[in-house]
Amino acid sequence: SEFTLLGLPRPLVSGLARRGIEAPFPIQRATIPDILAGSDVLGRGQTGSGKTLAFGLPTMVRVAGVKARPGRPLAVILVPTRELAMQVTDALEPLGRGLSLRMKTVVGGMSMGRQIEALRRGVEIVVATPGRLTDLVQQGECVLDEVRVTVLDEADHMCDLGFFPVVSALLAQTPADCQRLLFSATLDGDVDKLVRRFLTDPVTHSL
Ligand code: AMP
Repeated sequence: SEFTLLGLPRPLVSGLARRGIEAPFPIQRATIPDILAGSDVLGRGQTGSGKTLAFGLPTMVRVAGVKARPGRPLAVILVPTRELAMQVTDALEPLGRGLSLRMKTVVGGMSMGRQIEALRRGVEIVVATPGRLTDLVQQGECVLDEVRVTVLDEADHMCDLGFFPVVSALLAQTPADCQRLLFSATLDGDVDKLVRRFLTDPVTHSL
């Protein structure tokens, strides 16, 4: 499969094939090698282009093989809404099982108790909305000092919803050398501020 040539391991490639996904979309062909190489990536474009797998597959590879300690995820995927968080988890979690990755959706309007239980057991990848993740960080249930990859999906939508201050505060708690990926339809205003403040020499791709 062409996914193998992009550098993805067999468990992911066979998981994709089981779901009928055999060839990468252009955004995936462009970003997967850069993300696997450790670069910060700026992806500009709309939904429907296949960006969930474009950031999700290489993010899983970057954190695979290490077990997260309790309350200390290795990757954080921030999204604007609960619905999008559940979509992202649904798309990635079955694929991540092949790499023994534990994922948890951390969003408002759902049991905080279950989210805390999962975090205490340990999850490698958290898919979160900024508000609920901030609550759990403030309660000490989630500590971001071992995060290796941060993804901001639909960053423009997050900023439109007023999340710029909390997203900035969350990113500031991740290690300075953490890999950061930002996807957005537009790159002005607050999104531009996030890029300047938190991305290092990003490789830019238009979707
Ligand atoms: P997204 O832009 O991430 O919301 O993805 C849009 C849709 O495209 C989803 O239903 C994915 O399952 C599907 N998709 C993503 N990548 C591929 C691919 N390489 N081949 C076929 N379908 C894909």
